[in-house]
Amino acid sequence: MKNIRNSTLQDLETLLISMGEPKFRAKQVYEWIWQKHAGSIDDMTNLPKALREKLSALYHIPKVKIHHSQYSSDGTIKNRLLLHDGHFVESVLIPTDKRLTVCVSSQVGCSLACKFCATGFLPRKRNMDFDEIVDEVTLANQQALEHYGKGITNIVFMGMGEPLLNYRNVLKAIDKITTPDALGMSPRRITVSTAGISKMIRQLGDDEVRFKLALSLHAANDKKRDEIMPINETSNLDDLVDALNYFYQKTKNEITFEYILFNKFNDSLQDADELIKLYRRVPVDLVNIIEYNPIEKADFSKPDEDTTDTFMAYLESKRVNARLRRSRGKDIDAACGQLANVDGKS
Ligand code: SF4
Repeated sequence: MKNIRNSTLQDLETLLISMGEPKFRAKQVYEWIWQKHAGSIDDMTNLPKALREKLSALYHIPKVKIHHSQYSSDGTIKNRLLLHDGHFVESVLIPTDKRLTVCVSSQVGCSLACKFCATGFLPRKRNMDFDEIVDEVTLANQQALEHYGKGITNIVFMGMGEPLLNYRNVLKAIDKITTPDALGMSPRRITVSTAGISKMIRQLGDDEVRFKLALSLHAANDKKRDEIMPINETSNLDDLVDALNYFYQKTKNEITFEYILFNKFNDSLQDADELIKLYRRVPVDLVNIIEYNPIEKADFSKPDEDTTDTFMAYLESKRVNARLRRSRGKDIDAACGQLANVDGKS
């Protein structure tokens, strides 16, 4: 049984014409898949029954389903999503004053093993297919409409997995999310976050993508970054600075640095100075300073309020555009770096 969502409109036209059907049926099928989010070929009720039966014998729609949702006291919703082959991933819906952001996963597990991240302790099982990522967004949008009375406004690829190691599927998903004949969202409302794979950041530049890029920096010198993010050994900070400048030169898209504050690891004024030096080497719009959410397996904690305030004030005094991001969904383990209470198959 083939996945019908792998067929382009042109593929569908060829298929339906070969079945003796008029060409317009292809458009109908395409609309059912990408605009009406049909759960099965049988849902495509404006197709003749005989055609639905013929198509159902050859094709299926491997939809992602919400297996379980958890609701935080701050309004955040974490979803455990079941993929067609029994794997689970997680997505998080985060309401703020002006935005409704969904944080999506791109891989089942992750191979990069960042030391502070719950997902990093899971083995990477597989990449998510592009249509599974589109389902994550569609499901979140439906959930947002039901729960908050409005749809999602922003998408961040900051869930489970490294998006740039599932490059083809992530870009294809974003294409579907942004194309007017599918979800039609603005690419300016999408941020792809990477642990820092310089070769793929350059590739994004060459592909002239239109979405924003976030670098999960978390340490501003190579020695410390090697300690917490093994990927830094193959893509160090100098490589990343070059790649980010190349990306900006090619796309002019917004770049942010993400920097989790870890107690007595990267929270001193010397660390802040190193961060500022890097900030000056890349056209960065914003530095998000993120409150750490401890996980059982990692030996990190968050600094006290005074240290955090001093760090923030120092950045401000040096005219760094920085913002402190308080954690959301902590009571349901939905905060940044906590996505992993699911693994393996159902
Ligand atoms: S922080 Fe991102 S890249 Fe690092 S282990 Fe977690 S999911 Fe993977």
